[in-house]
Amino acid sequence: MIRNGINMGQVKKQNRSLVLRYMNSHEGVSRKEIAEATGLTAAAVTQICNDFLEMGIIKECGIDDETSGAGRRKVKLSINSEYGYILGINIESDVTNVVVANLAGEVKKSIQLDTCSEDELDSFIDKIESFLNEIYESNAHFQDKMIGGCVAVAGEVDKEKGTSVHAYGIWDKEVSICEMLEDKLGIHFIIENNIDAFATAEIVYGTAAKYDNILVIKWGPGVGCSIIIDGKIYEGRNGRSAELGHNIVEQNGIKCSCGRRGCLETKISWKAMQAKRKFKVSEFGDVYRDFADEIDLFARTVVNTMSILEPDRVVLSGKLFEEKKVRDELIKCCESYFKKFNNKRILYTPLARQEDYIGPIATYIDRELF
Ligand SMILES: [Zn+2]
Repeated sequence: MIRNGINMGQVKKQNRSLVLRYMNSHEGVSRKEIAEATGLTAAAVTQICNDFLEMGIIKECGIDDETSGAGRRKVKLSINSEYGYILGINIESDVTNVVVANLAGEVKKSIQLDTCSEDELDSFIDKIESFLNEIYESNAHFQDKMIGGCVAVAGEVDKEKGTSVHAYGIWDKEVSICEMLEDKLGIHFIIENNIDAFATAEIVYGTAAKYDNILVIKWGPGVGCSIIIDGKIYEGRNGRSAELGHNIVEQNGIKCSCGRRGCLETKISWKAMQAKRKFKVSEFGDVYRDFADEIDLFARTVVNTMSILEPDRVVLSGKLFEEKKVRDELIKCCESYFKKFNNKRILYTPLARQEDYIGPIATYIDRELF
């Protein structure tokens, strides 16, 4: 077996990413503090910070008062969130959220569009172009500082080619979405699976800034999952991993969109639950007791997956987890399978209010900014 070495370019990028991730979750930090937190040498941190200062990605924001009396003064640094803007396009099965946000993930302008079929892509992109032109006309500085864009979409994506290979239930064939957007909008685009994009936001802005190994689980119309190991998303072979929703839970069950039978998603997806009882997403907190079997099945899959991966934390997200009592019910079911289950290991995402758009913004920052 031939194992690939890590080239110096990758190491440099990783180190720069470490510094920026730490600074994203800590306002006003000294170089020394960054070095201690990241494990990088003082010289390496100084070099990286100097580069970032020169680029304008970070800025000096004062002197650490406690140390200013004796010895060398510690200059505090923070991310220059207005360094540039990113266009994030988050495509879910029903709606698409399009936002222009700064490096801190703060939205400057946003629009919500109906998610389109592949036949309607031209007019869909026209609408995004109009949205962007309106922003540019309102303030030219958005155009001057537009860095690039990211598309987050369900299903398999080809990051090299910038294509959506198979966005289950949205587009049924490969779509060169990045090329189409670049041609029309004139900015660089990248693509990411929507759950992995959200997990990247957990790395850049959320829980994974504190914990290295995290299982991110999203319960919306379907079940999405992403595994973060040592602060990086585990991609698996061919970019396929963490298919929690496709755990087979029933022998000869209903046929799933993945082609197999009896997957978890065939039992607890939006469609499956609607077949049992109609309800709106916002009503789930009122009707969840009618879905005790489904939540129990979900909990069993979570406990099994935790047994294999032993993550530091499990982070729950998605519309169906919005109500605390639903999350508590899931945790109660987990405890029923494992008496020593430590419920503190299951958290609710701190990015809940941003989950409709934050994934593609964080992905662009993490992958392309340095
Ligand atoms: Zn399946």
